[in-house]
Amino acid sequence: MSSNAYDAVIIGGGIVGAACAAECAAEKLKVAIVEARIVGGGATAAGMGHLVVMDDSEAQFALTRYSQELWDELREELPREVEYEACGTIWVATDDEELAEVSRKQKFYSERRVKVEVLDAQALAEAEPNLRRGLVGGLRVPGDSVIYPPCAAQFLIERAVRAGAELVLGRRVEAITREGVRLADGSSLSAGLVVNAAGSWSPQLTPALSVKKRKGLLVITDRYPQFVRHQLVELGYLKSAHSVTSDSVAFNIQPRQTGQLLIGSSRQYGADDSVVDSSILTRMLARAVEYLPGLGKLSALRAWTGFRAATPDKLPLIGPGSENDRLYLATGHEGLGITTSLGTAKLLVDQIMNRAPEIPITPYLPSRMANSRLSTLVFDVSDG
Ligand SMILES: Cc1cc2nc3c(=O)[nH]c(=O)nc-3n(C[C@H](O)[C@H](O)[C@H](O)COP(=O)(O)OP(=O)(O)OC[C@H]3O[C@@H](n4cnc5c(N)ncnc54)[C@H](O)[C@@H]3O)c2cc1C
Repeated sequence: MSSNAYDAVIIGGGIVGAACAAECAAEKLKVAIVEARIVGGGATAAGMGHLVVMDDSEAQFALTRYSQELWDELREELPREVEYEACGTIWVATDDEELAEVSRKQKFYSERRVKVEVLDAQALAEAEPNLRRGLVGGLRVPGDSVIYPPCAAQFLIERAVRAGAELVLGRRVEAITREGVRLADGSSLSAGLVVNAAGSWSPQLTPALSVKKRKGLLVITDRYPQFVRHQLVELGYLKSAHSVTSDSVAFNIQPRQTGQLLIGSSRQYGADDSVVDSSILTRMLARAVEYLPGLGKLSALRAWTGFRAATPDKLPLIGPGSENDRLYLATGHEGLGITTSLGTAKLLVDQIMNRAPEIPITPYLPSRMANSRLSTLVFDVSDG
């Protein structure tokens, strides 16, 4: 019998911490979730909520695919406010080079049994009549979907609490100790293990982490139902390069269940403040109008920023940390943490319970960062 107050203390009530808490509690572990502010108020509130299968690497594919299947399984249980919408994605091609990427993606996904459909110019125009003329085609991925992330995090926290977890809200973890965590008010929680799921704040508690903040900007419009029907993403990132060397924007738009349009996306390194940068905003909207000329006539309601927690190899850190033998990490999800939260929670708990995982765990283990050149690799991504 353990003398700790908890089997597991999870730091962070974003979607990743919430998913981990729900999974730990389902295994009958005695869990506390410590959230400094509000549930789902960090990157989770700032994100787009695109549940997307990605193909930048086999490991990224495996985790996004696995997680998407877990979201599909949960679908019937999600309350209405999670706004689950099976709208699918269309990757949009503007020229022959991007059309070649459509073929590559089609092959990649089909070989891995993900349903996809190649659209020619006419089929693309029929699927999305507001896209400009002259586009050459696209790839539809009908299994992708969208959710409203803060409500999804709340749903997962409530699941955890119903299974016996305790939510410690409005209290900040100041330090991870050998016994558990010390809170900013001076009190402590003892725990057999501590999960650092504090997203872009995780290096504050575990300073050796290779996690950097990557700022993103989104805009939401008034209600224009059916203006777009799928999540639309440009393939132009191949050329414009979402890279570490400069700020970048890419066309990415999402139809919300409310009829609103969520317009993204941007990426900035080294920007620590949450200010909406007007030059990035202008570039991002201009890019969107290049694809959807009618967008220029619609009203935007609000713009905001958030911080992705980026790792050098674009994969999250899931598993034991090296600083302390009680420490586990569930962080570094960059632009895919809404999608991969459920897979992350399963892989974390498989390790805690000493169980065989459904997908190979090695690519996500934090130990890969030790003695590797990873911290010097170029950051370059194409997801949310
Ligand atoms: C603009 C943008 C668009 C995105 N679009 C998508 C998308 O379409 N699809 C997708 O899958 N992902 C997307 N993402 C990524 C996704 O939002 C994140 O990967 C995900 O939300 C990370 O969740 P998290 O729980 O790790 O972090 P967070 O949501 O940031 O949660 C961390 C929590 O920890 C708490 N915390 C921090 N420090 C402490 C402490 N010391 N003590 C207690 N609590 C603490 C914070 O208050 C916060 O609530 C996007 C991100 C951005 C910024």
